[in-house]
Amino acid sequence: MSEAVSKPGRVEEISSTANPRIKSIKALAMKKNRDRESVFLVEGEKLVHDALASGWIIRTLIYARKAHDDERLAPRVEKLATQVRARGGDILIANDKVLTSITRRDNAQAIVAVVQQKLVSLADKITPANEVWLGLDRVRDPGNLGTIIRTADASGVKGIFLVGETTDPFALEAVRATMGSLFHVPLMKINPADFLAIMESVKTAGGQAVGTHLKGAVDHRAIDYSNGPQLLLMGNEQQGLPEDLAKACHQLALIAMDGAADSLNLAVATGIMVFEARRHALG
Ligand code: SAM
Repeated sequence: MSEAVSKPGRVEEISSTANPRIKSIKALAMKKNRDRESVFLVEGEKLVHDALASGWIIRTLIYARKAHDDERLAPRVEKLATQVRARGGDILIANDKVLTSITRRDNAQAIVAVVQQKLVSLADKITPANEVWLGLDRVRDPGNLGTIIRTADASGVKGIFLVGETTDPFALEAVRATMGSLFHVPLMKINPADFLAIMESVKTAGGQAVGTHLKGAVDHRAIDYSNGPQLLLMGNEQQGLPEDLAKACHQLALIAMDGAADSLNLAVATGIMVFEARRHALG
């Protein structure tokens, strides 16, 4: 049987910020444009490399012409460009002005890529295995979301449910904050009603849904996270968990605090929870 081979991508040199391809890449700063094309922007050699290595599809690779003059960078950029072209992606070679206009940053990265979005279905992945999953209720801040994805990756969380209206995981600020973990942690968007069914299925699989709440009755360190799948649920930055989701949790955990702060930052609270739930498996 013959394998499908993609046609190699095109190579183009661009020096004007008014070039229509550059204009459409710049337009990806807006969510509606990212969603319409189902793509997003990734900056920097490491993230582009991570995307490729994890099998994400790179539609376009844009790199600075000056990369050719950098002895250290040139072979690495060439290698990335060859791989991207071989998989059908286009290569744009641009000047600093063009790259800065795309990333809206002085000192723009020498490499930027347009990558195809990927969300998956996690509903059927929850098994009786003793794994940790994360549910984020209406997370608003892209920096928080990116930091949570990175932290979830580091702790070995299996996947993240984005419940209700959440900020876009493919926004540039979120992608930057993931430091590449976006390519390693499966994400699923889900509405609250379907998520309630997931919470039930976790119980059926022998595990539990642990909500985090300022009125939580159980110290988060006193919970046994070792039986079956563990679904940790974190609330919205301003409002915390809504009542229906809180009620459906099998336990509500509190991270004990001292001092005058009335709550923890969402990403910090998530970090504490996932590392506690994964403690038995780490180090
Ligand atoms: N005003 C909100 C409230 O009353 O719930 C505060 C939300 S807090 C900034 C965001 C989320 O972080 C919470 O919904 C919860 O999931 C988690 N969180 C923050 N501090 C926590 C703590 N001490 N114990 C348990 N969860 C906490």
